[in-house]
Amino acid sequence: MSHISISPAPARSSGGSPTSSTPADGAVSARSPLGPLTIARRAVGPRDVLIEILYCGVCHSDVHQARDEWGGSLFPMVPGHEIVGRVARVGEEVTSFAVGDLAGVGCLVDSCGRCGPCRRGLEQFCERGAALTYNGTEMDRKTPTYGGYSSQIVVEERFALKIPAALDPAAAAPLLCAGITTYSPLRQWNCRRGDRVGVVGLGGLGHMAVKLAASMGAEVTMLSTSRSKEADARRLGAHSFELTTDESTFANLAGRLDLIIDTISAPHDYNKYLGLLRPLGTMVIVGIPSGPTPVAAFSLIGGNKRLAGSAIGGIAETQQMLDHCAEHGIVSDVEVIPIQRINEAYERMIRNDARYRFVIDLASLAR
Ligand code: NAP
Ligand code: ZN
Repeated sequence: MSHISISPAPARSSGGSPTSSTPADGAVSARSPLGPLTIARRAVGPRDVLIEILYCGVCHSDVHQARDEWGGSLFPMVPGHEIVGRVARVGEEVTSFAVGDLAGVGCLVDSCGRCGPCRRGLEQFCERGAALTYNGTEMDRKTPTYGGYSSQIVVEERFALKIPAALDPAAAAPLLCAGITTYSPLRQWNCRRGDRVGVVGLGGLGHMAVKLAASMGAEVTMLSTSRSKEADARRLGAHSFELTTDESTFANLAGRLDLIIDTISAPHDYNKYLGLLRPLGTMVIVGIPSGPTPVAAFSLIGGNKRLAGSAIGGIAETQQMLDHCAEHGIVSDVEVIPIQRINEAYERMIRNDARYRFVIDLASLAR
């Protein structure tokens, strides 16, 4: 693929350091493989930090968006929202980061900060629309955002997370999306010791859900299509493993689970899984298949069941999750790859051959 340059991002402050030209990797269309790009990062404003990116996790959402499976993708696109790096510069008003600190950036880079959801720590639901880390725009609704498959990112300090020193930086990167996306619904639905939690799909999100639910004292049942993952599921903390390709699983487990976290990335029948809930149980959908799935009224009415959704998590809760992971020694199981293997990693993720998260070592990107 030819090398493509993208015009500079406007600075947020006058007089600061100039915008910087940054090597990156991304897609120019939904049908093209990823390849080298050059992007511009804005000048470091008074409340900004400049992060030299060390590692970036590869989320299935990157694949969905780079291939426009959800519709509305913006190109050129530099994916990546599981970013860990080192702070290389700070604006003059920055108080919580210093040069040399390890910092993380997840799925959000800005929000209005004033609306009800923002004030409640739910920046992902900002009434003006949060600025997503990539495949979105800054709050000016014009300047495109570019993600972590790049050498540097500039972000307001309130959207940068502190990476606890106890966590390996490469293995901590996936916590910024896979970690918070599974931690948040476990907390919201009050996962506690002894609860019977089902995790559906053992991928990037699923393996974090197993580790986190187990760390909260839950009795975890892994529901998977892949027999080959059984030993891993148990090592990660699952107490039992059930094959969902075997119809008897749905009869044997009917009415047993308090909470289900469904991470499946492809269309599937929610009704079957709702049958596994006890009365008043909750199934939370976090996986985002591209098409809709019918839900029968009887699947919910028999047993006053709840079918819920959950989107990532707010900034304060993301920090809380990172601190929880440091306290419990939890990181992601990762396969670190150079950027040159990103297209192969996408294919392997689609083939269900990730164990359990690819993480890009950005030292491999020509700087
Ligand atoms: P992943 O690593 O590819 O894992 C998905 C897992 O789903 C696979 O490992 C597989 O588990 C199962 N699966 C895949 N295809 C299936 C099929 N046809 N039928 C049944 N099971 C299937 O993906 P991920 O990164 O964890 O992401 C999972 C989903 O969550 C994606 O749709 C992603 O976009 C979404 N997501 C949502 C949020 C949010 O805020 N809600 C945040 C991040 C990601 P088994 O082999 O165990 O069956
Ligand atoms: Zn993600």
